[in-house]
Amino acid sequence: MYKKHLFYRKTSSIFLVFMFFFTAVSAESIKDKKINIVFRMDDPSAVSSTETEVKILEAFYKTGASVTYGIVPFACEDASDPAPQDLYSFTADKGNIFNTWIKRGTLDIALHGFSHQTRNAVDKSEFRGADYHSQVEKIQKGKKLLETLMDAKVTTFIPPWNQYDQNTLKALESSGFTTLSAAQTVDKTFMSSLQFIPYTVEPIHIKNAIEEARASSDTQPLIVVLFHVYDFIEASKEFGYMTFDEFEEQLKWLKSQEDIRLMSISQATSMLENLHMNRLKSAYKYNNLAKYLPSSLLSYQHTYQQSAQWEKLLAKVIVFYSILLLLVSIVIYILACLLLSKFSLVMKVATFGSTLISVIIAVYAAQDLVSHFKEMIIVIVSIGISLGLWKCYSKK
Ligand SMILES: [Zn+2]
Repeated sequence: MYKKHLFYRKTSSIFLVFMFFFTAVSAESIKDKKINIVFRMDDPSAVSSTETEVKILEAFYKTGASVTYGIVPFACEDASDPAPQDLYSFTADKGNIFNTWIKRGTLDIALHGFSHQTRNAVDKSEFRGADYHSQVEKIQKGKKLLETLMDAKVTTFIPPWNQYDQNTLKALESSGFTTLSAAQTVDKTFMSSLQFIPYTVEPIHIKNAIEEARASSDTQPLIVVLFHVYDFIEASKEFGYMTFDEFEEQLKWLKSQEDIRLMSISQATSMLENLHMNRLKSAYKYNNLAKYLPSSLLSYQHTYQQSAQWEKLLAKVIVFYSILLLLVSIVIYILACLLLSKFSLVMKVATFGSTLISVIIAVYAAQDLVSHFKEMIIVIVSIGISLGLWKCYSKK
């Protein structure tokens, strides 16, 4: 009796100690969890509105936050037109204005291409596809100009249209760059020792990104907000969707959240770990697979994942399509047996016809390598229909 009592006491105390450590550990990691939000604004240049850019800097200054401006050193007038154009070099006057904000700690500068002019009218890119030597020349000229006009070392590169290739990475490494900020896309053959801070959302999705980051098990979630002057209604009636006041209010709200840290790209590279290329590659692989699921089933869409759980996502995709296939075939089986089984010719035509159609659809979808959610749904539904019909047909 006594022994039994001792056993219970021992196990319960082990349990209590375990619970204590468990709660202590999770409380500690929750306390340490910081959502990192980087702000990156592209396109300031000699031809952009300095007044608007300063207004945005004032909003960041008021909240004590810092923002990265991706500056175009030798802007052209129409970036989408590949025909030869006059270039406008970033000016000393504008450099002086930006310098004030760099000194205040509000502005962090990055190099955003050379002229931002596309090489191709349809598939837009300034750097991707260009030869190595021309890329090096453009990158070094741009860096030199910005560093001459402003008191800052330029070590971050933002390729126009977020398009780059292995030559860009090599050119950056040999020109003193440490960081590249583009999108969450990468070629699996690329190799680089640079740090990568890809953008993850536009301002309109910041709230969704924060909800996602708060729910995730990642202790250092990273959200990179990419915005442009034309996102503001005051600057562009055509594309704008937020006012300066709304943006400023949002910054204030972000600043007031204890679990959120606002930062520039340079601050992120010095404060955060694990920004190497492998993380980008696994995020890209995850995002590609994620295209096969409805967004309501995805846990990561607006953050840059610390370690993308590709296998878990694959299991989700398999379960999703298996359930869909099963449901469609059961419904069609019931309907066919109820309505068509009396008409044997109709049944035969429907069964063989649907099989032929589903084979054609599957072959067509397999050829289209970018086929995603909608195409997969059509393929699975058509297979489900013919399976249901076959089941009823063969029962006869
Ligand atoms: Zn741009």
